[in-house]
Amino acid sequence: LRQTLRNFCKRNGLLVLSVIAVLTGCVLGFMLRGSQLSSQAKIYFSFPGELLMRMLKMLILPLITSSLMSGLSSMESKACCRMGVLTVTYYLWTTFIAVVVGIVLVIIVKPGVGTEMESNRLGGGPVMTSADALPSGHRTPLFSQSDLLSVFQYKTDLVPILKVPTRTIQPSFVYVVPDDSDPKGQTVYLELTPAPEVTYKTSPGTSQQMNVLGIVIFSATMGLLLGRMGERGAPLVNVCQCINECVMKIINAAVWYFPFGIIFLVAGKILDMQDPSTLGRKLGWYTVTVLAGLFVHGFILLPLFYFLLTHKNPFGYIRGLLQAMVIALATSSSSATLPITMKCLLENCQVDRQIARFVLPVGATINMDGTALYEAVAAIFIAQVNDYELDFGQLVTISITATAASIGAAGIPQAGLVTMVIVLTSVGLPPDDITLIVAIDWVLDRFRTMINVLGDALAAGIIAHLCRKDFPLGASRASIENHDC
Ligand code: ASP
Repeated sequence: LRQTLRNFCKRNGLLVLSVIAVLTGCVLGFMLRGSQLSSQAKIYFSFPGELLMRMLKMLILPLITSSLMSGLSSMESKACCRMGVLTVTYYLWTTFIAVVVGIVLVIIVKPGVGTEMESNRLGGGPVMTSADALPSGHRTPLFSQSDLLSVFQYKTDLVPILKVPTRTIQPSFVYVVPDDSDPKGQTVYLELTPAPEVTYKTSPGTSQQMNVLGIVIFSATMGLLLGRMGERGAPLVNVCQCINECVMKIINAAVWYFPFGIIFLVAGKILDMQDPSTLGRKLGWYTVTVLAGLFVHGFILLPLFYFLLTHKNPFGYIRGLLQAMVIALATSSSSATLPITMKCLLENCQVDRQIARFVLPVGATINMDGTALYEAVAAIFIAQVNDYELDFGQLVTISITATAASIGAAGIPQAGLVTMVIVLTSVGLPPDDITLIVAIDWVLDRFRTMINVLGDALAAGIIAHLCRKDFPLGASRASIENHDC
């Protein structure tokens, strides 16, 4: 028995600790909510959690660049092309399915229908009575110009160099002012305008965050070119492989800090949240609808796809991902979870390294099934609350814009809330009504991030299976080991 227990702890100890940490964080957070901590005390209290987030973020850049550059450099371009096309097609398809699941559920449950309007108005948003509601028969084009502009703005991130901040510089002038008290006009004063004011403009939702998509594109291009350079590119490939190995070692060491950090990350968030007593019945049903949709998509449909495409047990595979899912739940960031997802895939799920190195970083930036589902549900919920009937064309618009908005959302906490403006404006709903769902968003964000991470990881397993002829596991392992430092 002792041996079994020891084996269990060895294999699952970290996972058990992480789950205990999430629960402890919840209890601690709710206990401290009554104690009215000052904002300064809250900052000190949240410090260990902040440290965890920073550790994870620190690893993203070296992990993505070294993984993609070393992984793609050793691939044949035909195999690489096949893997790329399969990955993007699979991602778009599953995101669209997620949106459809969300739309079907929210139409069946109707969480926003009813008379209880005022109690649902949260965060001080303007109340829209049925008289204010958008006129019936009001139609907007599939994409308004501003929606398209927003999507393109996000997608300039594809090429990092395009994202040069725009600077507004106020020209500086020197005035020569004659002194009136000096009759001969020999004394002059110099007057200077204030120092130049510099403002930076970034795309909505992308300020103060790493441009992961741009890094993925750049590193993938570099990796492909290095592969073509042969001997001349080998030294740089070796450097990338060394960096990759070091990053994985840092991750292995850092994971032991995570349970401690998670306690304060979760408790700190609970300390900061809005008073849950303001949640009305409608918001409760909205929450249930989103969670049910995430469950159906993440634990029924995606595993079904996995089973149909690979003929393997999806739940055995998901078991190996639990650690990454707990981290996603704690951090609300699929980008920050990326190092742990990579670790789980390589160590527990035995996915080919080259596949994982490509599919995961791309997925962490463009594949967000949970976010897409949530955006569709939220938009229709807001329409229901406003007594605004959506016709079939508008539902199609929502499904397309929710897919686009999820692709545009960054893998950071609550990015989906920002990109949801695109979905709302595409069908003429007031963007201000995001305030209706803000109070509960931090909770839903955790669960949708978990599904985003699960979706990427299952995709890696499926692509690895579909491309198994191009990347036989043994060959890939051997080629990597030959290069390892
Ligand atoms: N937090 C999510 C993620 O990182 C994005 C979102 O839906 O807000 O995947």
